Amino acid sequence: MNADFIRQLPKAELHVHLDGSLRLQTLIELAQQQKVELPSYTQEGMRELVYKKDYKDLQDYLRGFTYAIRVLQDAESIERGAYEFALDVAADGVCYVEARFAPHHHINERLGYADIFQAVNKGFLRAKKEINIKYPDRPAFTYGLIACIMRFFRPEYGSYYKALASVLPKTSLVGLGVAAANDLVAALVEIKNKQGIPIVAVDLAGSEDGNPARPFQEVFSLARQNGIELTVHAGEAYGAESIFDAVMRLNAARIGHGYELFNKEMILDKVSDKKKYINILAQDMSQRTITCEMCLTSNSQTNPAMRDLKNHPIMQFVHAGIPVMLNTDNRLVSNTTLTNEYQIFSELFKPSIRLLRRMIMTGFHASFYPGTSNDKHKYVKQVVYALDEKLAQFAPGK
Ligand SMILES: [Zn+2]
Repeated sequence: MNADFIRQLPKAELHVHLDGSLRLQTLIELAQQQKVELPSYTQEGMRELVYKKDYKDLQDYLRGFTYAIRVLQDAESIERGAYEFALDVAADGVCYVEARFAPHHHINERLGYADIFQAVNKGFLRAKKEINIKYPDRPAFTYGLIACIMRFFRPEYGSYYKALASVLPKTSLVGLGVAAANDLVAALVEIKNKQGIPIVAVDLAGSEDGNPARPFQEVFSLARQNGIELTVHAGEAYGAESIFDAVMRLNAARIGHGYELFNKEMILDKVSDKKKYINILAQDMSQRTITCEMCLTSNSQTNPAMRDLKNHPIMQFVHAGIPVMLNTDNRLVSNTTLTNEYQIFSELFKPSIRLLRRMIMTGFHASFYPGTSNDKHKYVKQVVYALDEKLAQFAPGK
């Protein structure tokens, strides 16, 4: 299936980080304007040194975020980032997107929670108008915003973290992380309800290693009680136990990645029958249609065992009846597009048109669509119509 054709298919993207998806030229321009130091000020230089095709390890992969975060500290830059991001995903054939970012990485003395969300929303609204004029035959461009809560807390991460650590000097780093998360969720509820900004979910992000999800159980419950949905990064650097915590304790409706679910070697706790443990969890996820947001290229860059994506267990999920769909994770850092992800998947696993259609539709069904279920149903119907019309051109009669 060629790239042009995949690009034309109406698609949904549910797992994509704004700070990992800036346009490279924009990052360089903002750094120059703001006098932020970069290892190079040309696109080629930055591709060679930071945003590479292959990364040594997760640390190497994460370096790209620090530069993006440094230039996204004022409303104007954030709005520009969001605006260009929306235009880019639309050009990739995405008509529904849920973009995520960690507000605590952008908050500072001059920029509060509401300022950050207003800036992002302004960028999206401006782009939305242009996109809907440019592509009148597509289902209308629609978006939701996801706020990432960071699993770990370090005072050196920025002025917000430093200030919090200094007023709570006796609180542990985990305790500070939970306090910051509580503060964020209270702000999200207020911004969502008073300003009508489509904040649809919270996510738990950041390194899983040594940073379990359990302390965030109550914060997640608070978000849920206020009509905010839940997704959790899990089963990426850790195994089934981290997915278990996300699904059973935090009540996540979706899992970011989750690809280590079936890997027995990744279970570190004392579980006597690992196979049974995995089967029970997999069955539960299938029955409750807990969707895994898969990001193939990103996995191949952060995990040496996935370098050859033929080893990726995505088809095991399909066979176990766990809903999966594809995402870029980070358009700049992973140097990919959603079209590219579907193409990689098609080439490696030779899915039938039916399976491809099901995965694309899972992206819409599993979305935290900002509206009533009737609104969502109507939108999904439009997508089905548009998608089937396109697919019929590729395989008439199928
Ligand atoms: Zn992610």
